[in-house]
Amino acid sequence: MDLTFSPAEEAFRQEVRDFIDAKFTSDMRETLKKSPTNYLDPDRQRVWQKALYEKGWAAPKWPEEYGGTGWTAAEHYIYETEISAAGAPRPIGFGARMVGPVIVQFGRPDQKKRFLPRILSFDDWWCQGYSEPGSGSDLASLSTRAVRDGDHYVVNGSKIWTTLAQHADWIFCLVRTSTEGKRQEGISFLLIDMKTPGIRVEPIVLIDGEEPPFHEVNQVFFDDVRVPVENRIGEENKGWTYAKYLLEFERGGSYGASIRAGIEKIRSIAQQETASGRPLIEDDGFRTKIARLDMEVRAVEISELRILGALGAGERPGAESSVLKMRGTELGQAMTELAMQAIGYYAQPHDRDYLSPGSNAEPIGPEYAATVTPRYFNYRKASIYGGSNEIQQNIIAKLILGL
Ligand SMILES: Cc1cc2nc3c(=O)[nH]c(=O)nc-3n(C[C@H](O)[C@H](O)[C@H](O)COP(=O)(O)OP(=O)(O)OC[C@H]3O[C@@H](n4cnc5c(N)ncnc54)[C@H](O)[C@@H]3O)c2cc1C
Repeated sequence: MDLTFSPAEEAFRQEVRDFIDAKFTSDMRETLKKSPTNYLDPDRQRVWQKALYEKGWAAPKWPEEYGGTGWTAAEHYIYETEISAAGAPRPIGFGARMVGPVIVQFGRPDQKKRFLPRILSFDDWWCQGYSEPGSGSDLASLSTRAVRDGDHYVVNGSKIWTTLAQHADWIFCLVRTSTEGKRQEGISFLLIDMKTPGIRVEPIVLIDGEEPPFHEVNQVFFDDVRVPVENRIGEENKGWTYAKYLLEFERGGSYGASIRAGIEKIRSIAQQETASGRPLIEDDGFRTKIARLDMEVRAVEISELRILGALGAGERPGAESSVLKMRGTELGQAMTELAMQAIGYYAQPHDRDYLSPGSNAEPIGPEYAATVTPRYFNYRKASIYGGSNEIQQNIIAKLILGL
């Protein structure tokens, strides 16, 4: 594989950098500096998403006819690398990365016309209603019921761990439309307007300490929620097929570039921290840990490039997305752990005064240390969401290794 970039690719890199310089404002940078995640608060996040849309970069992997960029594997890689290196916000993935490809593939023409442009422009913020209390890894056991009543379904039940549902305009939901036969054959895929009467969103506060309204996950309750039948994707009781297709896109994101950016941050911290009277970066044991992580991340980056290279726009990522999800999140967690080790004692305090949005308080320790621990805690989620890593191992065993 030739990994040298052509002059045209270097020009593209410059274009990405220029975009980041222009649109990733100092105000956004300050906000993200205090966040345990890579998301901004909703207002700033919308500004960032609009900027991506106006540039034509809202959904790079969609087919071009629907608004995709038609980038080559190298251009995708350059884009991800530059965004991560700059510490720019992650786009909210539930629209462009998840439900968008499902609508492109399985939606009716009128659904494409209605939903895709608003996903691109971020006029609609989407969230994901898959998991339920008691139905996570065993998703096919889900029990939120949708009962047909004329040209509507009446939905009752609850979804849990629903990321950023408190800001969402729409939720895509797996619902049970039949209890006959195999469990997978009684599930349908519904698009539900979050303003429909009977929907209630309750916050769940995680160990990273983010408090409402800045929390990340919620439980969503449906109480006699009437959803037009025309909002169903594809056929009734065939939702499992569409659900699995979506998961390939959810799991197949890019991991290497952001971990690499994290490693660079650790290097910078290790130049400022000391161990036995010398800069930590000169400590052989610590250098070995960084080098080892660096090499493992390089392997993930090469795999990402290989998979991207093998895919044309609009093609499905397949079971390889499970390999990337598992390895990428393991290494991401290792990176957050190494950052904790680098800051030593300053991993102890939870500096709520400094971290509160809008606060002018001084940090307890060095500024770079304040988010290391919240990020470490926050990133524990990564080996759970999108299907836990144990589940990814089962998929790899079955679909790739044929065991
Ligand atoms: C921060 C966060 C955000 C999330 N966001 C969303 C969202 O927006 N929308 C959404 O629908 N869901 C979301 N989820 C839910 C996520 O998909 C589930 O938590 C995940 O699928 C695991 O399900 P569970 O929590 O019910 O755990 P369980 O399924 O109860 O699993 C518990 C443990 O048992 C292991 N286990 C279970 N079954 C097997 C098996 N067959 N083989 C080996 N090990 C197994 C698991 O790996 C895990 O360690 C989110 C989760 C988190 C933590």
